[in-house]
Amino acid sequence: MKTVVYENARVYTMDPQAPTAEAIAVRGERIVAVGEVAACREAAGPDARHEDLGGAVVLPGLCDTHIHTANYAWGLRQVDLRDAKSLAQCLELIRAKTKESTSDGWLLGGRWNFNRWDDPRQPTRHDLDSVCPDRPAALPSVDGHTTWVNSLALQRLGYTEDTPDPSGGQIVRDAQGVPNGILRETAAHPLRALLETESADNLPSQLKQAQAKLLAVGLTGIHDIDGEQCRRAFETLYGQGDLALRVHKLIPLAALDEFIERGRCTGDGDSWLSTGPVKIFSDGALGSHTCHVSQPFAGEPDNHGIAILSPGEVDGIVRRAALSGIAVAAHAIGDAANNMMLQALRRWKSTGLAPHLRHRIEHAQHQRPADVVAFTELGVIASMQPVHCTSDIHLVETLLAGHDIASYPWKSLLDNGATLTFGSDAPVEDPNPFHGIHAAVTRQRADGTPQGGFQPHERVSVAEAIRAYTVTAAYASYEEGRKGMLRPGLLADFIAVNTDPFEAEPDQIRETEVALTVVGGVIRHALPR
Ligand SMILES: [Zn+2]
Repeated sequence: MKTVVYENARVYTMDPQAPTAEAIAVRGERIVAVGEVAACREAAGPDARHEDLGGAVVLPGLCDTHIHTANYAWGLRQVDLRDAKSLAQCLELIRAKTKESTSDGWLLGGRWNFNRWDDPRQPTRHDLDSVCPDRPAALPSVDGHTTWVNSLALQRLGYTEDTPDPSGGQIVRDAQGVPNGILRETAAHPLRALLETESADNLPSQLKQAQAKLLAVGLTGIHDIDGEQCRRAFETLYGQGDLALRVHKLIPLAALDEFIERGRCTGDGDSWLSTGPVKIFSDGALGSHTCHVSQPFAGEPDNHGIAILSPGEVDGIVRRAALSGIAVAAHAIGDAANNMMLQALRRWKSTGLAPHLRHRIEHAQHQRPADVVAFTELGVIASMQPVHCTSDIHLVETLLAGHDIASYPWKSLLDNGATLTFGSDAPVEDPNPFHGIHAAVTRQRADGTPQGGFQPHERVSVAEAIRAYTVTAAYASYEEGRKGMLRPGLLADFIAVNTDPFEAEPDQIRETEVALTVVGGVIRHALPR
């Protein structure tokens, strides 16, 4: 096993004992030295290989603590044709999409509208075959009543010139009676069943494509929120030796009993695939007017949103899970939902039982000002998504106008000593963590609005934002002794980037390119030099 010295770099370790360095020496999956290049070379010995990073900036690998990876992977196969103004434009978009990956799975999405095209005729399978011949494609029109498929999709459906039209639908045909690639109404229904089975079978390979995208934006770890199908797919990838980033896999509430029965606890597993907390929902979301709020939404005097679980139900779940060694991660967006969860966790804490568990609140978007300190008192992790804040500015200013709340109170949480982690909630937002860091330090949208930032007193520093993606993300999966900073003995998970976030203008941070992603001492992504 050769030691590798990564050198000619500006290293930010996130280790308060030695915050900066020039080089990192890696042996196997671990860091053996961090510091001056001479010291690292000496620690590595004469046989070491040297990797010149060309003056790049090195950070610990970033971890997204709230991502729906299966949904994100499915989204990657979807082409959006809504804005296309011609068939040619549609075909160009489809061609570009198929070039993004080597997947042979279904190409989906669609939402084309031929009424808006300059030559408004319905397309055929031949058009689609010309840009997407090697994988089946099924692209519903914008109203969902017509589906445009290619020849391979017709084959998978078993549609031939001999197939009769189903009742309530039509397999449109050419002059020779051969299906031409347009399916109307019920003729498209068999696609659903086909896609469901094929999607489940293909999930590991789809996750592999998604993984490549995540590694390329600097993520070396994720906390996955999707279901058990996604867990099994990650297990498959791991078994095949194809898992290249570290996964802390949350448990859906529906699977809690099974986990308890099998004696699986939060933190079980290894550094690649570990068991997370159980995910529960205490309310809905702001955009749907369903998050649970103390004061009604503006203009809807009777609407306080929805409390999905009663305090008694939450108490029951927390007790059952925690007594079996499973922590709770509760989705809570409205201030009433957050207050309810914090009170439940306060009641639980007062029992003194299972104090090692690190419970979390997911999103934690709107807080009663007095509740901010409860996160610290109770040791509850606030798992938040910076880009949600900047996407929601308009919603907060309209729906929650005049509410006595602290919205996305990152700085207040940190100043009170709370543990804050960051993520994207992809595919709701882009998983790029540099978008999150930008939003966290500016509270501005990508276009720089609003000037000065939304409620700018809640902006955090670059170091605080990066900490929420590294050090505290590791703490949230009980792995602070394993990763999250660059220190000898810890896992060699790091990235090299082209922008120094500590020196750059915030809008440059958002555009950061990741040149190299190393997980467990192995280069998993590298930009061509
Ligand atoms: Zn989510």
